[in-house]
Amino acid sequence: MKRKTPLNFKNNEELEVMRKYKKRSDENFCIEKGFYPLGSCTMKYNPRINEYCANLEKLLNIHPSQKDEEVQGALEIMYKLQESLKEITGMSGVSLQPCAGAHGELTGMMIIKKYFEKKGEERKKVIVPDSAHGTNPMSAAMCGYEIIQIKSNEKGLVNIEELKKVLDKNVAGLMLTNPNTLGLFEEEILEISKIMHENGSLLYYDGANFNAIMGHTNPKKMGFDVVHLNLHKTFSTPHGGGGPGAGPVCVIEELKDYLPNPIVEFDGEKYYRNYKIKNSIGKVSTFFGNFSVLIRAYTYILSYGNQLRNVSSKAVLNANYIMENLRNEFDIANSGKCMHEFVICGEKQKEKGVSTLQMAKRLMDFDIHPPTIYFPLIIHESMMIEPTESENKETLDNFINVMKEIAKEVDENPVNFENYPSKTPIKKADETLAARNLNLRN
Ligand SMILES: *Cc1c(COP(=O)(O)O)cnc(C)c1O
Repeated sequence: MKRKTPLNFKNNEELEVMRKYKKRSDENFCIEKGFYPLGSCTMKYNPRINEYCANLEKLLNIHPSQKDEEVQGALEIMYKLQESLKEITGMSGVSLQPCAGAHGELTGMMIIKKYFEKKGEERKKVIVPDSAHGTNPMSAAMCGYEIIQIKSNEKGLVNIEELKKVLDKNVAGLMLTNPNTLGLFEEEILEISKIMHENGSLLYYDGANFNAIMGHTNPKKMGFDVVHLNLHKTFSTPHGGGGPGAGPVCVIEELKDYLPNPIVEFDGEKYYRNYKIKNSIGKVSTFFGNFSVLIRAYTYILSYGNQLRNVSSKAVLNANYIMENLRNEFDIANSGKCMHEFVICGEKQKEKGVSTLQMAKRLMDFDIHPPTIYFPLIIHESMMIEPTESENKETLDNFINVMKEIAKEVDENPVNFENYPSKTPIKKADETLAARNLNLRN
């Protein structure tokens, strides 16, 4: 089996290889390089202690197929994370298996579906507001549900009259995120949950915006039945570029029997994986989810303890600070206060010849990652800004000044926006070329 001819590899010196890759990595952008106000994605700083813990040798060199008695420490971490998430969400049962927010949504909807199956009720519809993240209707549709979309009211909140109009015994549930994707708190959430429960329907909480409410309120208090959290957003594990993430699902007491198996439990002496969950929907991922992401999130939770409440306070304060300072230059989707993020409507600038996409690209020239754009869909030319709690006042002030500068440029030199970004390693990219001519070799 020995090769007869030498491998056709160039013999590179280690130092040259290191330089090549370092140079490449320097061309990339990350939170350690600059402000990253990507709305809805909660790009907070990932503290190094999370990495330290996830890289502890005793956690790295174990295998999920090992017996419970050999991995008591790992199971203890998972158990205690489950308990922490119960505390934070107010829920009674947790599965750590789902590997993303959308995966959590799918898991949650599967639980809802099985719950009604066991009850002998056939409910075929799920209600989703028009401000929802696209994964919400997608997850429900993947479970076989028909999606009913309801229009938001003029404040950008759930329109209760619209909700009542579409509600009947065929509705399994309502999917909501609170605060919603406009960064607004659904003030009538108790009324909404009452209406849904009186109809025998369940409420699903998309926890992607949890960074706004930690320790101040929780989905249980708001009347939700199933929740997913995005550990990679709220609990500071690295994300972007497709993962890995973790989207644990938390449920009320009545739905605990439907969770994916196994769940990690503690019998007073040892931790063990319980596969005997009565009505379990089964497994939703290989082994037990993304363990190293779970360690990072648990480390983050322990680092803050009951100070998690302040994380949310500061995230909300930072968003309001930026929003109020940009009101003169930009149209903002709401007139009052926001939660942890807010949405700019760029139509005014578009009329002057500069789209939201072009303004977002221009931000890159100032070493700022573009915010989320064209989401939520209900605001035209939208730009969604989420600073998170990680940033200090200097960074926020710099962003405000840059945005004001950009507004001025729109007034004075709109044509220049054709050529932005101009300082990045890759300039203005062809938005569709890569999709049409996929080339992974160069
Ligand atoms: C990010 C996000 C999701 C999906 O989460 P992933 O982890 O990206 O799958 C769902 N809803 C909202 C509002 C989000 O911001």
